[in-house]
This record gives sequence, C-alpha cells and structure tokens, in this order.
Amino acid sequence: MRKIADWGNYPVIEAEVTGFDSAEQLRTQLEQPGEVIAFGNGRSYGDASLQKNILLTRRFNKFLSFDENTGTLCCQSGVLLSEILDAFVPRGWFLPVTPGTKLITVGGAIAADVHGKNHHVAGSFGQHVLSMEVMRNDGSVIRCSPQEKAEFFRLTIGGMGLSGVILNATFRLKRINTAYIREETVRAENLDEIMDGFELSDNWTYSVAWIDCLAKGDAMGRSILMRGEHCTKGELIKPDRLELPLILKQRLQLDIPVMFPNVALNPLSMKAFNFLYYNKTRPGTHSRIIDYNSFFYPLDAISNWNRIYGKRGFTQYQFVIPKSAGREGMRTILKRITESGLGSFLAVLKLFGEQNSFMSFPMKGYTLALDFPISHRAMQLFTELDAMVADYGGRLYLAKDSRMNAAMFEKTYPNADEFRQAISLLNEGETQFASLQSKRIGIT
Ligand SMILES: Cc1cc2nc3c(=O)[nH]c(=O)nc-3n(C[C@H](O)[C@H](O)[C@H](O)COP(=O)(O)OP(=O)(O)OC[C@H]3O[C@@H](n4cnc5c(N)ncnc54)[C@H](O)[C@@H]3O)c2cc1C
Repeated sequence: MRKIADWGNYPVIEAEVTGFDSAEQLRTQLEQPGEVIAFGNGRSYGDASLQKNILLTRRFNKFLSFDENTGTLCCQSGVLLSEILDAFVPRGWFLPVTPGTKLITVGGAIAADVHGKNHHVAGSFGQHVLSMEVMRNDGSVIRCSPQEKAEFFRLTIGGMGLSGVILNATFRLKRINTAYIREETVRAENLDEIMDGFELSDNWTYSVAWIDCLAKGDAMGRSILMRGEHCTKGELIKPDRLELPLILKQRLQLDIPVMFPNVALNPLSMKAFNFLYYNKTRPGTHSRIIDYNSFFYPLDAISNWNRIYGKRGFTQYQFVIPKSAGREGMRTILKRITESGLGSFLAVLKLFGEQNSFMSFPMKGYTLALDFPISHRAMQLFTELDAMVADYGGRLYLAKDSRMNAAMFEKTYPNADEFRQAISLLNEGETQFASLQSKRIGIT
C-alpha cells in the first residue's frame, strides 16, 4: 500500500499500486477479483484515476510504428505526450491536439478526451484516434475504431478508463515546419471585450485567454487573449533558429521542492499576482515568436507547482456553458466567483467549437477553468455554481472534478444513463473497472 493522489492532491488515498510491462502481465493482474482503475500520469486533478487497486500504465510506453508519409503514429498507452514531442518535433511533426500540459499519457488523453487551444478547429484528441486496442476486465483485447466495434470505441473515448485499459492507439500527427509559434496577445479590459475577441479569432488555429477572476465591477472579466499559429521558416529571423528551426535549446526547469504552508496563498497575494500579470501586457495587440513550450506549456517549466497549494490540496472548477447562454451566463457565474474572492491565480477562458461525441466534456460554448485551494467555503461556492451551470445547460469536466454529486452528473451529461448501463454490462465478471469518481457520480 502507498499514498497516492492526482494533481490536486485532493483526495490523497492509500492504494495497492502495480505497473505492467506487457499485455500478458496486465492480463494476469486483471485475474485478481475486485475493482481496479488505470492510472496514467496522475494529471487529472481529482479522483478519476484513484481507487484502492491502481494499475500504473507508465511502464507500458513503447512507440510501435510511424508512417513518415502520413504522420500516422501507433504507440502504447503509457507514452507521454512530451515523449512524442521530443521524438517527432525534430522530424517536423506535432500533436493534433494538446492540453495545457504535455506530461500526460496517451491513455489519459483518450480516456478524458482532452481538448486544447485549437478545439474550435480540430475538436478533441479522440477525434484524431484512428484505432486502438483495449483490454477488457476478462483479459480479452478489443480492437476498435470509428468503423470497427464503433459502439465500444465511442464509449472508450471520454470514458474515463471504465470500459477497460487502453493498450495502444493509432493517431495522426500534423506537419510543422518549425518548433516556433507566432503569438499575438490582445489585452481586453472587460468581459464583453474578451468575448468579442474570441469571435474575431475564429480564423486563428489556437486561441485562449487568461482571465483575472478577482477583478470586479467595470473591470470584471479583464483578460489577455493569446492567439497563435505555427511559424513558417520565413518568419524566423534569429540566425540560430533559422539554422535549426525544429530543434529547441534545453529550457530552464524550476522546481517547488516542498509543500508550501496553507497560508502562503491568501486573497491578497493572489490579487497582487493577477494585477501584476495583467499589467505586464500593455494595452493593444502585440506579436512575438516563441517556442512551442512557452506557448503551450508555461506551467510545465515549474516541476511540482501543485505544491504551492499546500497539504490541503486544491481543485480546478472547469465548466462549459452553451454559446446561446454565453455572455449572460458567463457574466452571472463570473460575478458570483469574483464576489466570493476565493478563486486563485488567473483562470483560463476558451470558446469551444462543435463537438459530437458520447461522453466528452466539450460543447459549442464557453469554458472557464479556475483553481481553488480546498476549503469549506469553496465547497459551498461550488454547490451554488453547479446549480447555475446546470441551469444554463452546461456541465463540469470529469478530468478536473473531485466533488460533483451524482445528481449533477445525471442532469448535465445527456448520455449518463446509457453510459452507466453500457459500463455495467462490460463490468460483468469478477473484476470491475471503477474509480472513486465513478462511484461518487453513480456510474459504477
Ligand atoms: C497543468 C494542467 C493543465 C491541463 N490542461 C488541460 C487542457 O488544456 N485540456 C484538457 O482537456 N485537460 C487538461 N488537463 C487535464 C489532463 O489533460 C487530463 O486529466 C488527462 O486525462 C491526464 O492524463 P494522465 O495520463 O495524467 O491520466 P490520469 O490523470 O492518471 O487519468 C485520467 C483518466 O484516464 C484514465 N486512464 C489513464 N490511462 C488509461 C489507459 N491506458 N486506459 C484507460 N484509461 C486510462 C484514468 O483511469 C482516468 O480516468 C490539464 C492538467 C494539468 C495538470
């Protein structure tokens, strides 16, 4: 038994943790009766990969094949997105979709059906998966794709590890000419300006905003909109970049070596941080060329940054509301968050495009993601926010959740019932896939 948690360090549990190097080994482990769940790299925030019996996938991490002509990669599910980038950016290929950290596994990317800054043009990760192999609770392996065993395929994408352990996946990378991004930042003084900004950014491949959730009154919703495109070679000016356009220098890696005391993050320090961050960007529009790590993964530069929230841990409240409820809905919810003064550093705002899948989080509309240190008051606030999100026709992201109740899940995920029935059928037998989350929200 050992202590284990996902990224928010809440909850922390004692679990039996085992890894596997081969499908045969995994099959033997699945012969043990009882409940079990796959654990990728623990970058979900809550308890989606927690359970008293945990199967670590990280050792199952080989590249299996790559087609240079089409960019089609097949790899085992424990491969990290960072390992894919390290191997393939120098050859001129990039991920079709990437979240705000590259330290997640391919299995975790599929099971949570992660989204990135290009959702409005590329959809979620699962939409780029051509096929995969999944081991079921009885040790059998199902090969599935949008054409083959399609029902099982759509259950597994966004299925939070409940249909089985993804063994390997085949998906397509996209061509790039350089490892750099042309970034344009635009300062928005309030919520209306940032929403207008998103509408006008439709033709950009990547767009996202950092929003100051502590600013009130006329300044509520003030943000920095960041838009980006992969650079062509012609856009690079510096000689060292021109010479090796696909190779990046090693970047400085900082570390938070110990847990911070719980008092380190107080409303005053957070407000000061947000103020400084916002004012660091001058009004107007600014353009610069930066490497892809700085654009996509600024937080990965600080190892263990989750420790700044202390031993009590933190959670991320991420919701989406449909575009039709957009401005009014976001204004009402944001007002409640700013009034509470409980949110932490800058929050992330994004306009999603269309999404047509079974259990995935995105829908055409606005999503806001904001970290909160764990406290009784924050939990009370979430209950209020849940009601607002549900009333506006929105929902919460399972990959960030550690506290939603079954009624909220049922009300906001239209296929909840069908999903529960399908998982219950798949789980027949002595071994069942279940997580703390799946039990809490009533799936298993
Ligand atoms: C700094 C930061 C930024 C983030 N930004 C974004 C973002 O922009 N967009 C976004 O969508 N998400 C984002 N996330 C969340 C993260 O991308 C997801 O939670 C992702 O699922 C984590 O993958 P993981 O490999 O760490 O899996 P874990 O967190 O260990 O597990 C996540 C889920 O996947 C299942 N799972 C893992 N491996 C397998 C497998 N082989 N077979 C079956 N099921 C499996 C687990 O059972 C669990 O249900 C962010 C997280 C962090 C920490």
